[in-house]
Amino acid sequence: MAFNVAIDGPAGAGKSTIAKQLAKKMKFVYVDTGAMYRALAYYFLTQKIDPKDEASINAAVEHADVTIAYVEGEQQVLLNEENVNAYLRTEEVGNTASITSVYPAVRSKLVALQQKLAQTTDVIMDGRDIGTCVLPNAQVKVYLTASVATRAKRRYDELLAKGETADLGQIAADIEDRDYRDMHRELSPLKQAEDAVLVDSSDLTIEEVVAVIEKLVTERR
Ligand code: C5P
Repeated sequence: MAFNVAIDGPAGAGKSTIAKQLAKKMKFVYVDTGAMYRALAYYFLTQKIDPKDEASINAAVEHADVTIAYVEGEQQVLLNEENVNAYLRTEEVGNTASITSVYPAVRSKLVALQQKLAQTTDVIMDGRDIGTCVLPNAQVKVYLTASVATRAKRRYDELLAKGETADLGQIAADIEDRDYRDMHRELSPLKQAEDAVLVDSSDLTIEEVVAVIEKLVTERR
């Protein structure tokens, strides 16, 4: 049986940075499920579909094929066979993903793909519902969080480093909106699984968080 590590938590808690480093160190495959929701959101945006119009989203999902591939260890998301990685990390795509990820048609399509991947491969998978819904039997589950202020500042610094302009107050407000939507939706809301270990990264370095999770994996492997 494959060994599965589930990392859930709100936007900006550092899940992907930490999961990527851990996967490299421990020779696991890193699966970024947020990127899959973002790929569908990107599709809806390019098709000019109103993210609040569930009927149109349901119809569009049928025409959006999402798969993943790995190039030099980096996950690539293919949307109808086109690599869309370069378009996924914008605030617009992230916020749209948060709106459209509430729909059952969107979730069931992506959850099936995620479960299939984890069946045969040792994965570190990050998202919102991995420990609670996608991989309820994962050997290690972590709920990684940090304060809104810390998460907004990290995102702000990231955007500035990319040469983009950013408004810290707006980023914090967007993060709060996304947290609220992700935690209060009917289907697979973001919450800590009962058997998940809580890690608050507000006052920890990346290396410290990686070390905490690495220890959990080593103990249970
Ligand atoms: O993690 P990331 O910010 O890339 O995720 C974008 C959005 O996709 C989240 O705000 C959330 O609404 C949705 N998502 C989800 N379930 C997951 C991963 C992401 O609903 N497993």
